[in-house]
Amino acid sequence: MLWRLLFLSPDFQARIPEKLINQFKLSGLQRVALVPEKSLLSDNNGNLFAEYFDESSPCRILEDKSGMNFKISFNKRRVSRPVFSGNNSACPFDNRESRAHLDLERHYLTPNWYPFSKNHSMLIPFRHYSLPTLEDLRLALSLSAKLNQTVTLNIAGSGASVKQHLHFHCFDERLPIVSCLGKEVLSNYPKSLKIESLYYPAYCLKISGSQTAEFVHGLLEKFSQPYNLVFFNGFAIFIPRKIEAPLEGVAWNFGAAEIGGFLVAGSKEFFDSADNKLVCGLIAKAGFSEKKEIEILESGLLKALNCEELVLSKKPKNLNQ
Ligand SMILES: [Zn+2]
Repeated sequence: MLWRLLFLSPDFQARIPEKLINQFKLSGLQRVALVPEKSLLSDNNGNLFAEYFDESSPCRILEDKSGMNFKISFNKRRVSRPVFSGNNSACPFDNRESRAHLDLERHYLTPNWYPFSKNHSMLIPFRHYSLPTLEDLRLALSLSAKLNQTVTLNIAGSGASVKQHLHFHCFDERLPIVSCLGKEVLSNYPKSLKIESLYYPAYCLKISGSQTAEFVHGLLEKFSQPYNLVFFNGFAIFIPRKIEAPLEGVAWNFGAAEIGGFLVAGSKEFFDSADNKLVCGLIAKAGFSEKKEIEILESGLLKALNCEELVLSKKPKNLNQ
């Protein structure tokens, strides 16, 4: 059997090192058929994959004096994506043979049919379950470094459209949140770990070091509310969530990309009219931003971490490097 691999651009294919393939015990690139970009692969509506991401889709940077520059994009194809109805329909991720895919050991990579960034694929476990295992987190973290991509996770209540089957998004766009400065917290943790509270409109923790996946997994096991995860360059950002659709009157769910500062606008009107201040307010509303609520959240987190030393973060400021 040949593994099939199709991504948006040849430069992305070139970025998959042979080393990575070997690591996942595939027998080398000769067993991976690299489907040409203009492959006749199509989605359910007969649209060619190569046409999926419109390079001319508008994207702009919402500049701000503070340096916290959010980004906003609008992509017609993305907004035309059908709503997955859930319970009664078949899970769209169970039958990987129906999509172009690359098998890893217990996961597969497959192109996103409604991409919001260049080289947008999804990392999906073969098995059907909704919350990440330690193995899932380790893989997502290592892929973010090896593929030089942003890897994100949305779950039920934090922007996932397919809630029942875990899936990570992997894409080229760099989220503004990853270049945010932070203050070290929980400094009594082992030296192999660095935990920072970021100066961002929504409360978030950046975790880096050799035990990152283990720390995040331990935290998530005891955290019962929605959250988003962002992996980039081998570190993780954990963003607890309060509201899924912060834009009043519009059922537009924020996922990790949006709360991470890259807004995939749900309408052209919003794309045209949004400014930095508005976006900043939506991010603050989607996550935790008030002093009182952060205190309650943090004491819950510390309990989950079995941590006695309480190191409260400062109130998030709108500050970036
Ligand atoms: Zn499934």
